[in-house]
Amino acid sequence: MSSAITIALSKGRILKETLPLLADAGIELLEDPDKSRKLIFPTTNENVNIVIIRATDVPTFVEHGAADIGVAGKDVLMEHGANGVYEPLDLNIACCKLMVAAKVDAVEPVGRIKVATKFVNIARNYFAEQGKQVDVIKLYGSMELAPLVGLADCIVDVVDTGNTLRANGLEPTEYISYVSSRLIVNKASMKTKHDILDGLIQSLSDAVERRRESVVTNK
Ligand code: AMP
Repeated sequence: MSSAITIALSKGRILKETLPLLADAGIELLEDPDKSRKLIFPTTNENVNIVIIRATDVPTFVEHGAADIGVAGKDVLMEHGANGVYEPLDLNIACCKLMVAAKVDAVEPVGRIKVATKFVNIARNYFAEQGKQVDVIKLYGSMELAPLVGLADCIVDVVDTGNTLRANGLEPTEYISYVSSRLIVNKASMKTKHDILDGLIQSLSDAVERRRESVVTNK
């Protein structure tokens, strides 16, 4: 049985904000992923490799044990389902909100609401809970365009500053959920590699706590 562990991360915001936390836990990449086409990266800890994949694939890799642990946004986890993984730690990074948004001053349509989103499962579940009938239109990006061109009445998307919505004449209308990045762990790995994973989760938890304290002190 190998004691080496694989961590799944995704490029962009999550990688940028997770690397300092991993560095606090003694794990640093040996090469810059932005300057490499590699997908598997060794680290300063010879027992730890990092794979860099699409954000939406992170729960799949961890659920199937192709990676022992991973970092994924709560939005991605909610959309995926991610029932087969543990979620032991909120890393308190890449924070934003899942919102419904529509054209400024739009009147709610009578009858079925057309919702454009890449989060089709989240949208279906949310509107079902509200008792509203919706037609969900799957898009892969530029959701903000859909209400402007009459493709949809509203969108479901992640919102941070709200600048993208404002720049397109949209406004948030309903709050769905708070989003931040979570550490997820494969259930079998948690048993077979308990010591190394438990140590890593504790180090990351300490790093998150130190960061939280320094933010409070600097306020
Ligand atoms: P905003 O700051 O609201 O203008 O956000 C700009 C865009 O960045 C949004 O439309 C989202 O697609 C994306 N975004 C913002 N925050 C996050 C996040 N934490 N995770 C993933 N995407 C995000």
